[in-house]
Amino acid sequence: MINIAIDGPSGAGKSTISKIIAKKLGITYLDTGAMYRAVALYTINNQKNPSVADDVIPLLKDIKISYKKVGEDNIIYLNDKDVSEDIRRHDISKCASEVSKIPEVRTFLVNMQRDIAKNSDVVLDGRDICSHVLPDTKYKFYLTAKAEERAKRRCSELLQKGQNVEYNQVLADILDRDYNDMNRAVSPLVKTADSIEIDSTEMTLEEVANTIISHIEKIKNSEENQKNTSQKLKKQAKELTLDANKVIKCNTRKTGGFYRLLAGFVRKVMAILWPTKIYFKDNFPKNTKAVVICNHYTALDPCVIISKLLGKDGKVLMKEEVMKNPVVAKVATELGCIPVKRGEADLNAIKKILGALAKNQPVLIFPEGTRNRSGSKEMLPLKQGVSTFAIRAKAPIVPMLYYKKTGPFRRNVLVIGTPFYLDEFYDQKPNLVKEEATLLIEQKMSELRTEVDILVEKCKGSKKKYLKYKREQSKEFALNECSRS
Ligand code: C5P
Repeated sequence: MINIAIDGPSGAGKSTISKIIAKKLGITYLDTGAMYRAVALYTINNQKNPSVADDVIPLLKDIKISYKKVGEDNIIYLNDKDVSEDIRRHDISKCASEVSKIPEVRTFLVNMQRDIAKNSDVVLDGRDICSHVLPDTKYKFYLTAKAEERAKRRCSELLQKGQNVEYNQVLADILDRDYNDMNRAVSPLVKTADSIEIDSTEMTLEEVANTIISHIEKIKNSEENQKNTSQKLKKQAKELTLDANKVIKCNTRKTGGFYRLLAGFVRKVMAILWPTKIYFKDNFPKNTKAVVICNHYTALDPCVIISKLLGKDGKVLMKEEVMKNPVVAKVATELGCIPVKRGEADLNAIKKILGALAKNQPVLIFPEGTRNRSGSKEMLPLKQGVSTFAIRAKAPIVPMLYYKKTGPFRRNVLVIGTPFYLDEFYDQKPNLVKEEATLLIEQKMSELRTEVDILVEKCKGSKKKYLKYKREQSKEFALNECSRS
């Protein structure tokens, strides 16, 4: 069922636009304002006061509203009598606004509207369609225009029907109705956060209708795509869990002896070009799986870490664009690079990462997702995928930090922090806890940053001084604790 909801203030052109859209899409148009007008007309015809709930409510049981499409127009029947003309009278507009404040009237009409929408493809226009009548529809629009423009339109519409009206009076009435509709206690007119707003002040009817239709097409297509992607994801996720062997197999791509030699050469050249002093190498787990994370300053960081730390088995996640050149791609593959499409869930890369971890290989990920070109000590916000890998593979995370912006022939400082596990999340779905787990990873990285500051700045890079400083600190802490207790 396609239900299109169009809300907006009086005179914004909702009904004309809705008619055009319904015609173009070949679906029904339901003017909910006409229903409130029909109730108002019935109230007036029965010499009752539309502002008094006790006058209006007893009438509801005697009201039957129905529609019939005749040519381009909708004929509206009140107790089987065609009232299409009468309900458009200027005095009825104000009365409709009054009866619409009565909760019982709203419930009576909203139930009818929902019934119609449940059983047919329909465009509904009104004040509370997006927020109340059809809150779950995906097609929500808020059509508006400047009050002066709306008053102008209303005047010429009424003039065409032979009703002589004063512009200033129409403008005042429109502002009055806006106020009533937006400030009433029940279902006031609001633009919901998920509605698309269109200001028609400077647009032709055709332009407005085409804009709405193109939004509808876009929403439909993205829904279609989402459905396809989620079906694909579901299928592939099933394959992943069912066939662990397949996961491991897809990580064993070989490129040939020449490129292996070339990769070995690149490793050596990198080690000479990018001399790196590594602190706390013992923190790096040997012969076991690990999700290694590090800040990312230069394009060559991955090669340095691979050549100095990860060894032949290590893998590095690298943006796909880097591997476009076939020779670079082959050497990079030999160096352990796994290409990844950025900005989407790249299932092939995910399989390879989980495959490597399953084979007890370390995988290096730059969790900032991109290079931090600012040279700042602070890291960019971390992407959440790291936590998913560490939880799914039950692998330790090894935090590492380059201390400063690196360059060729300048000695890098790389500090390896204490590995940690995300074991508190192991019994939960990684997707549901990735935010919380990423916060924990960020906290660990920031703790490491503080330690590195002490090591490099306070202790001038001397590991001996650093360890002495730490010993003294813990002594001081213990003394403080004693004196407190
Ligand atoms: O749209 P139209 O001007 O014909 O609506 C008449 C009145 O009915 C509006 O001023 C508004 O007070 C009320 N109405 C409403 N909720 C709707 C449609 C109309 O309260 N969904």
